[in-house]
Amino acid sequence: MSDTNGQVTTTPASVPSVQEELTPEKKASLCAKCDEHKKWMMEYSPSVRFMFEQIKQAGGYVSPNKIKCEICPDPKLGGFHPELGIQLCANYIPDKWVLNDTLSHELVHWYDNTRFKVDWMNLRHHACSEIRAASLSGECAIMTEFWRNSGMMRIAKGHQVCVKRRAALSVVGHPKCRDMDHANQIVDEVFRSCFNDTRPFEMIYR
Ligand SMILES: [Zn+2]
Repeated sequence: MSDTNGQVTTTPASVPSVQEELTPEKKASLCAKCDEHKKWMMEYSPSVRFMFEQIKQAGGYVSPNKIKCEICPDPKLGGFHPELGIQLCANYIPDKWVLNDTLSHELVHWYDNTRFKVDWMNLRHHACSEIRAASLSGECAIMTEFWRNSGMMRIAKGHQVCVKRRAALSVVGHPKCRDMDHANQIVDEVFRSCFNDTRPFEMIYR
């Protein structure tokens, strides 16, 4: 079920891959900050609270101690594993708003895992969940902002381009994915049906 590093899905970080060596004190303070932001989001973030509620309605339960702030050796924002839960990378998440989007993203995977029979080792299943997570979490909202001045069509296009790119960057980390071309191809194959499946959201509200 799990790949070698025990993480089924990973959310890549857009930061340089070389990070300075962190002292134990620095690591502890990064994790404490991450925990503080995590607690805040679980209480006040509309998207995080909404996903908790939807998972509950789908018959699942997100235990707060299954959302862990950790120091990640590889540059990524977070990950989801059906047994272990959600990992938030305290050393790569720059602020609480990125933490909000990352947590919302991983909760979409959690929802999919609860609601649908997801086979995480199946590339197409994985790609589908990554498309939904990228689209519904709000991580492509900055892109939406960016295109706002260019009219509605450009907004929609910008969002889709962002979702495709981010989904492919996650899919390429799958043990069965050969390379970036393969990742793009799988994402393209399932894009239309998965992008249009906005459950549990009525529509993409951001
Ligand atoms: Zn993901």
